[in-house]
Amino acid sequence: MKSFTYERASSPAHAVLQATKVPGARFIAGGTNLLDLMKLEIETPAHLIDVNGLGFDKIEPTPEGGLRIGALVRNTDLAADMRVRRDYGLLSRALLAGASGQLRNKATTAGNLLQRTRCPYFYDPQQACNKRQPGSGCAAIGGYTRMHAVVGSSDACIATHPSDMAVAMRALDATVETVRANGARRTIAIADFHRLPGNTPQVETALAPGELITAVRLPAPVGGTHIYQKVRDRASYAFALVSVGAIVQRDGSARVAVGGVAHRPWRVEAAEAEMPRGAKAVAAALFAGATPTPQNAFKIPLVERTLDAVLMQARQAGQANPTGPNSPTRS
Ligand code: SF4
Repeated sequence: MKSFTYERASSPAHAVLQATKVPGARFIAGGTNLLDLMKLEIETPAHLIDVNGLGFDKIEPTPEGGLRIGALVRNTDLAADMRVRRDYGLLSRALLAGASGQLRNKATTAGNLLQRTRCPYFYDPQQACNKRQPGSGCAAIGGYTRMHAVVGSSDACIATHPSDMAVAMRALDATVETVRANGARRTIAIADFHRLPGNTPQVETALAPGELITAVRLPAPVGGTHIYQKVRDRASYAFALVSVGAIVQRDGSARVAVGGVAHRPWRVEAAEAEMPRGAKAVAAALFAGATPTPQNAFKIPLVERTLDAVLMQARQAGQANPTGPNSPTRS
């Protein structure tokens, strides 16, 4: 690991000031991804700014009836929060589908959104990777691509975003609150937060240099049956081949976000209008223009079948509880 300097931020203003003033500075909170990348020298920050003491560790109700989740709320605490379990079951289930108990105890809400791809070529400094070293090429293209993107990719990068939580946040229409180096605060819709790779796969989010996430805000609950179905090569501690996060209403309408298929959580609102025609039609709209490789083309029918199973679970939940609240089922 390259040597680096370290400090604890005393306030958000101090954190963002230092992040823009000190060359090569990075924020660190849980460090569950960043420290791995530093050990492999994939990331080599010259200075770490520890933001763990900034107090962004609360889950609070908002005046609009939603929740404001502090950036430092640990994944375990977020998944276990009774308000989240009751009103945002999709989020709780997506969190529990990710990583391991130990990692969830440490990983934060903001860090989960910011985690980087698990493309194996990104983690191998001997391989060309435009994300790690812009302009060097992409060893994945023409390589082993079973885990890679099938939609929204580019000639520069075909990586996927690994987060389960972000898939749920996308379906829930979360917004990300930040503070910038000049002290200005802004909110970014989750739909705009993660970028597609284009020609700059190293730029993964809408954050400006030195911009710090302070919270993630959820709108008022929308009810419905919340299901997160993750398909992976082993039963735990594995990234998704594909995942489907859905909120299904009694009238058959649904929100659907998909993980494991693109450089960001994949949701196409227009595809949700196809719900009356079934999972096949929804999947066709979700993957219009998809560019799978021979090794990962299986993901498209896998999403279709997973969505079909999710919709069946939702119907069964409605039949089991026809007059009660439209409560979530277990995925
Ligand atoms: Fe790098 Fe993206 Fe290519 Fe993987 S897919 S090697 S992350 S440029």
